[in-house]
Amino acid sequence: MNLARLLARTAQARGDRPALALGERVLTDYAGLAGRAARLAGALRGRWGLEPGERVALAMKNRPEYLEALFGLWWAGLAAVPMNAKLHGREFRYMLEHSGARLCFASPEQAAAIAGESAGLDRLAELVEVPGPAWDRLFEAEPLPPAESAETELAWLFYTSGTTGRPKGAMLSHRNLLAMTACYFADVDPVAPTDSILHAAPLSHGSGLYVLPHVAQGALQVVPESGGFDPAEVFELFAAHRGIGFFFAPTMVKRLVEHPAAGSVDPANFKTCVYGGGPMYLADIEQALELFGQRFVQIYGQGESPMTITALPRWEHGRRDDPRWRDRLASVGRAQLLVEMRVAGPGGEGSAAALPPGETGEVLARGPSVMAGYWHDPEASARALAGGWLHTGDLGSLDADGFLTLKDRSKDVIISGGSNIYPREVEEVLLRHDGVLECSVVGGAHPDWGEEVVAFVVARQPGAVTPEALDALCLAEIARFKRPKRYRFVESLPKNNYGKVLKTELRQLLEDVPD
Ligand code: ATP
Repeated sequence: MNLARLLARTAQARGDRPALALGERVLTDYAGLAGRAARLAGALRGRWGLEPGERVALAMKNRPEYLEALFGLWWAGLAAVPMNAKLHGREFRYMLEHSGARLCFASPEQAAAIAGESAGLDRLAELVEVPGPAWDRLFEAEPLPPAESAETELAWLFYTSGTTGRPKGAMLSHRNLLAMTACYFADVDPVAPTDSILHAAPLSHGSGLYVLPHVAQGALQVVPESGGFDPAEVFELFAAHRGIGFFFAPTMVKRLVEHPAAGSVDPANFKTCVYGGGPMYLADIEQALELFGQRFVQIYGQGESPMTITALPRWEHGRRDDPRWRDRLASVGRAQLLVEMRVAGPGGEGSAAALPPGETGEVLARGPSVMAGYWHDPEASARALAGGWLHTGDLGSLDADGFLTLKDRSKDVIISGGSNIYPREVEEVLLRHDGVLECSVVGGAHPDWGEEVVAFVVARQPGAVTPEALDALCLAEIARFKRPKRYRFVESLPKNNYGKVLKTELRQLLEDVPD
């Protein structure tokens, strides 16, 4: 099986099911989507002579054409290099150079950014602006049959978002992505052909792969007119499409819940909201459940095993009468169907000795959704996959029932006076104050203790909260040594394109701009 055949299979049996919509308007059915993919494949192989296994970069905003490009290149036996549309020209250049892509499909703004940085980028033969006349002409090519790509061939070269350094290209094969699809049906959402999914998070991110389970069933793929996340538009689309599902990063769920219209929206068609990619604070998910009911599923994954390490299903979100409900909500759930997971103690890379329940260590995973390694980086690959396990770099603990609670990324743990402090635990406490809109806790250098706890806080309104009030809250809730020793009130937190707080920038700020 491969991803071209996945689409061909649906087109054969459910060719008349609506496949692609822009906002409320349906554009094509599955027979039409497969027909476009076949013609695009003809152009990719015929016009540029691209050979199976070559990479094609996508620097596109969320648009229906994104899905056509993706399936066109899989149909031709090529691999996609999805690049977040909000990257800087230099970052695009790095990925184009590193991946060796000869062709790039780009939205107009992104095409201009790449063109501005393309001097000396000799391998890149062509930059095709999408939509545009050059793109339209590609569909005049003769259609090809779907490629015979083997399951182990590269399908997605996924550059990690680089919150901890230079992006690395996780190599994901057709089999990896098909395994992700199977896990989705088992643990996230059993999609029906009458369902739909709204792509409001960037299609270039891991969550963009949720296209696949919906293609497998012949469900409708909806791209918002805005091309991104706009709560008002999301609410309109709740009403327009049946059985609609979403992936939202936790910051998006928070924005949806806090939108003035949230309380008056009828969630009748709203089937599933999958969230993950970063910590969801307890207060936020409780509020979301209150407003929209039991429609939420949490996933934990990373570029190296996209969307697939654990899931906390809808059912666990609804068990309010169970005394363990809050603990379960604070966890990221259990290992997904095809994934084996454990928490391992220190002992160097390659050590995979499982720790007993309750003890904190590094989360390791293995299974058919885990990448083959990093593109052109054997050393980083060997480190990440030592002993046959993916070393996630995340710290967590398992309970006796196999539920994983993440503490933090190992690089974010604060070591103060020899004690480990997990920023997330402190952030959870600070967020309980009504005056705190957002916060992030990092370690700042300290001459005696090594590091001290520093909290960056965004107040709901100026003066809505004081350091004294937060200190009193922390004293009441957590051990004294975990309390922030310094507070910095800021207007916003630096985030990556996916809404994830960039703690490296906050630590840099502490060095560059002392109190
Ligand atoms: P880089 O690997 O380049 O540093 P990154 O950390 O942003 O970038 P991604 O693959 O985008 O890499 O994100 C994966 C990380 O996000 C996970 O390793 C984990 O730390 C965090 N994460 C993912 N899902 C969840 C979740 N449900 N709860 C808490 N954290 C999560």
